[in-house]
Amino acid sequence: MHELYDVIILGGGPAGLTAGLYAGRGGLRALIVEKGQDGGQIALSSDVENYPGQSAPGETGVVLAERMAEQAARFGAHRCADEIQAVELSGGTKALIGLNSTYRARTVIIAAGAHPRPIGCENEAQFTGRGISFCATCDASFFRGLDVYVVGGGDSAAEEALYLTRFARKVTIIHRRDQLRAAQSIQDRVFAQPKISVLWDSVVQSVNGGDALEIITVKNVKSGALTVIQADESAGMLGLFAFTGYLPNSGLFQGLLEMENGYIKTDENMRTNIPGVYAAGDIRVKDVRQAVTAAADGAIAAIQAERYLGQTDKEPSAGVSRPQARKKM
Ligand code: NAP
Repeated sequence: MHELYDVIILGGGPAGLTAGLYAGRGGLRALIVEKGQDGGQIALSSDVENYPGQSAPGETGVVLAERMAEQAARFGAHRCADEIQAVELSGGTKALIGLNSTYRARTVIIAAGAHPRPIGCENEAQFTGRGISFCATCDASFFRGLDVYVVGGGDSAAEEALYLTRFARKVTIIHRRDQLRAAQSIQDRVFAQPKISVLWDSVVQSVNGGDALEIITVKNVKSGALTVIQADESAGMLGLFAFTGYLPNSGLFQGLLEMENGYIKTDENMRTNIPGVYAAGDIRVKDVRQAVTAAADGAIAAIQAERYLGQTDKEPSAGVSRPQARKKM
C-alpha cells in the first residue's frame, strides 16, 4: 500500500518549500511534489534583492531556492519529482495522480505557482528556445555580444534587462505603454544604464528567421507603424526575452475549486472551498505576488493544515507513524 501522508504540497517554489519547512517542523509527515527544478519563478530570477535576509549581491534565485529546499528537508519534509496529471480532492483522503505514482494524503497544499505569459506574436512557438527565452539567468550567456530585446515593463523586465547588459552588446526594452510599471528604484538603474534603450508604445508583432531568430517586427500601437529589426550579418541572430507577467498553473483544479480568472480563491488562512485543501503563493487570488508573500502563504497553509489534522483526528495517520512533533521556538 502507498504511504498516506499528512500533507502533500504541490510545487517547490517559495510557497511550497516554506509549507514543507513548517509542515516538517510541525511534525507532519509531508511530501513536496515538484516536476522540475525547485524555486519556481525565483529559479528564473538572476537576482532576488528583496527577500528578507537575502543580501548576498548577485546571488541567483536558484541558490536561494536551494537553501529553502535544504531547510525543508532538514525538518523532515520529503520531496519527490513527478508531474501530477489528475487529482481527487473530496473526502478525507486526497489523491494526486502523477506520471510515476499516486500520492495520498489527508490534506493538500496547492503551491503550483504560475508560468510566464507568452508574448502572443506570430511564430512565437517556432522560435521559443531558438532566440526567444523567458529566463535571462538560464539563457543570457547564449547572447554574449549580441543585440537583445526585452518585452515588458514591470519589475521582471527591468531587472532582467539590467542583468542582460552583462552579456549583450545592446538591450532594448519593448514596452506597450509610454511608461514602465517597474519600481522607481529599478527604473532609475535602467535609465542610467547606457546599454539600455526603450521602444515605447510598442508590441512584437512577429518573429522570423531560419534556424535562429533573425527578424523581429515591432508595431507602434499608437501610429500603427511597423519597424523591422534584423540581426546584423556578423551576429546572425537576435535575442528576445519576454517578461510580461505570469498565468496560474491551475488547470488541474478547474471545476473542483472556486476560482477567479484562473486563480484559486482562498480565505486569509489559505483554505479553499474543499476542507483540507489549501492554496498558497502565486496560484491564489491575491494582490501582491512576491517571493516573500508566497513564503508567508506557505507558512500559513501548513499551520492551518496542522490544525485541521489535529481537529479532525487526534490520532496519527492511519497506517503511518507520524514523527515526534518537534519542540517549537
Ligand atoms: P508584471 O508586474 O505583471 O508586469 C508585466 C509587464 O508586462 C507589464 O509592464 C505589462 O504592461 C506587460 N505586459 C503584460 N501583458 C503583455 C502583453 N500581452 N504584451 C506586452 N506586454 C505585456 O509582471 P512581472 O514584472 O513579472 O512581476 C510580477 C510580480 O513580481 C510583480 O508583483 C512584481 O512586482 C514582482 N517582482 C518583483 C521583483 C522585485 O521587486 N525585485 C522582481 C520581479 C518581479 P503594462 O505595464 O502596460 O500592464
